[in-house]
Amino acid sequence: MIKTVKGCKDRYEKDIKLFQYSKRVLSETAEQYGYTEIVTPIIEYTELFQRSVGQDTDIVEKEMYTFEDKGGRSLTLRPEITASIARSYVEHHFETIPSPLRLYYIGPCFRYEKPQKGRYREFYQFGVEAIGDISPLLDAEVISLAFTVAKRFSLKEIKVKLNSIGCKKCRPLYKDALKNALKLRYDDLCDDCKKRFYTNPLRILDCKKESDELKKSLPKIADYLCEECKEHLDAVKKHLTLMDIPFERDSSLVRGLDYYTKTVFEVVSTNLGAQNALLGGGRYDYLIEELGGRHVPAVGFAMGIERLITILEAEEKTVEKRPIIYIAYQENALKETMDIASILRDNDFIVLMDVKGGNFKKQLERSAKQHSLYTIIIGEEEKEKRVLQIKNMETKEQKEIPSDQIITFLKDHIKGEKNA
Ligand code: ATP
Ligand code: MG
Repeated sequence: MIKTVKGCKDRYEKDIKLFQYSKRVLSETAEQYGYTEIVTPIIEYTELFQRSVGQDTDIVEKEMYTFEDKGGRSLTLRPEITASIARSYVEHHFETIPSPLRLYYIGPCFRYEKPQKGRYREFYQFGVEAIGDISPLLDAEVISLAFTVAKRFSLKEIKVKLNSIGCKKCRPLYKDALKNALKLRYDDLCDDCKKRFYTNPLRILDCKKESDELKKSLPKIADYLCEECKEHLDAVKKHLTLMDIPFERDSSLVRGLDYYTKTVFEVVSTNLGAQNALLGGGRYDYLIEELGGRHVPAVGFAMGIERLITILEAEEKTVEKRPIIYIAYQENALKETMDIASILRDNDFIVLMDVKGGNFKKQLERSAKQHSLYTIIIGEEEKEKRVLQIKNMETKEQKEIPSDQIITFLKDHIKGEKNA
């Protein structure tokens, strides 16, 4: 038997319901904030991620699906989507569009990680990017969008964590201070962090293996931020407070990608277990420039849809099924049956036509097995009289109505039972 590739999964039945529902709510929310969808390819040139996400990050060092195509080019299945959007921005001269440019995306990403709860090799990300403005209001808008999403799903156990990791001016000073402090504790570091000490010391702050005691003993970025970064963070905090968005400052919050500057944030949920980050994001003011564009500041976040679904399941959220209308018929009323099915579908009803035929009793049994709400019955007599029988499968009540009144009848009877 051939199985799904390790760390990937098929989505069907209950899983696909929550998946479709999530995608719908996410895109509707983004659209309400004026973000429009962008779709970019799943494969990119490897260099894009090396230059944006950063050579010394876990993603680029260990997690990418990279291969050579038949023309000898190095391609990578995207591990995240912000880099692709920045590439697209530069390539298509989006700077000519009025800014800020507000975009969202939903699509699969790939990371070669050890599969476990909340961690897959193929997973979906939903994310937004607001590009072209330095205003802290935009950081707050993006966080507010993330928070609204959580509210729309009625997520309970969530928290916004906020920090600033400085800019090109102040971060190097902090890095030095951090390295000086870490030098004294070098022997206590895990093997990965010993490497990070040389390549990417900030990442040590969010290594899960290092103790809280060690992390607490290290200098805090807050004490090293330049005036501009400090003011920016204060303004973001002020706007969040104005919008009634609860947040907490977490001075050890850094992100796993190199391109972030100033604001970084995460939304975490206690319903997620060890992989507790529902989404992560921040400002990336130099990324577009690093990919060959102009100096264009930007801010965004990315959310793992599987993690969202895990929370929805933990909070026992189910998606109401849309009612099914089943049609049972006699062979000589096939034309009328097909006409009715087509009218119902044009009016947005889900219609299942019996395909096996036989007597009505058998067809009604099959209708019940499909959990239909109504069965429409059309025999020779109904055809002649231009009527149909409609049977409520729950109450077993059956009524005869003129064929041309079917839409009004169903709309009156199943109001409010459509989707959640
Ligand atoms: P983590 O610390 O959990 O590894 P990350 O910092 O690597 O997350 P990002 O690169 O910021 O994650 O991606 C944004 C979001 O994508 C995460 O908050 C998470 O919800 C989701 N995500 C990341 N990696 C995976 C994965 N392997 N499987 C499922 N979801 C993932
Ligand atoms: Mg990760």
